[in-house]
Amino acid sequence: MILQDLVALCVTVAAIYVILLGVYVTTCLVVARLNRHAAKIQPTRQTPLAQIRRDQGQSVLSLGVIATMLGSGHWAYVTLGWGFRPLPGIGGAVFSLAASLVLFDTWFYWLHRLIHSRLLYRRVHRWHHLTITPVAWSNNSDRLIDNLFLQSYWLVAHLMIPIAPWALFAHKIYDQITGVIGHSGYEHGGRWTWPPSPLVGVTHHDQHHQFFRCNYATHFTWWDRMMGTLHPDHDRELRANILRSRSPS
Ligand SMILES: [Zn+2]
Ligand SMILES: [Zn+2]
Repeated sequence: MILQDLVALCVTVAAIYVILLGVYVTTCLVVARLNRHAAKIQPTRQTPLAQIRRDQGQSVLSLGVIATMLGSGHWAYVTLGWGFRPLPGIGGAVFSLAASLVLFDTWFYWLHRLIHSRLLYRRVHRWHHLTITPVAWSNNSDRLIDNLFLQSYWLVAHLMIPIAPWALFAHKIYDQITGVIGHSGYEHGGRWTWPPSPLVGVTHHDQHHQFFRCNYATHFTWWDRMMGTLHPDHDRELRANILRSRSPS
């Protein structure tokens, strides 16, 4: 029985890893194509090829860590019954997905601020910030310990909210795709992100890499606005980048 459970855990983690890796690579390739008709946010800076190679290699490792956490959480939920049962019906699923988006954004904002503290930054988060002009491939370039802070949500989510496994996985896929787009370095002119939309545009996290002490959230701008950590030029620059992307020179 124990052997069967272990095999099920390994198969779950491996399947999630293959899917996350596939989504990462596919999104990076699609974004690279879309970038040809978009506005570069840091037009005078280029990312060195060695830095891109470093980010690609580290992302392949980090995605394995994330798959292990998400897969272990799922395995514990299914096999051991650890976690809240999901809300009934399609309405319950939509509500729990929305709740998960808000909860993960809150988790990410506060732990991200914590690992920017003097005590933790060098040991935990510095690796990710060595890339000042991010590219799509930079999204998952983090140290293992960095993942334990920001990505362990996927291990314990079932213990915090009643959400169906497929809805949690859909959230992770959304997070993976928007994370890659958020590191692409190009604003793509989405009407969904026009301020004061709560959804982050690419400019939001690009400014985090440029200026370091601002824009800590991942899905929404709410926490940064409420806590005064949104870059003072965020809305103006985002509008300008969106307009440039609609009429690239
Ligand atoms: Zn950071
Ligand atoms: Zn980043």
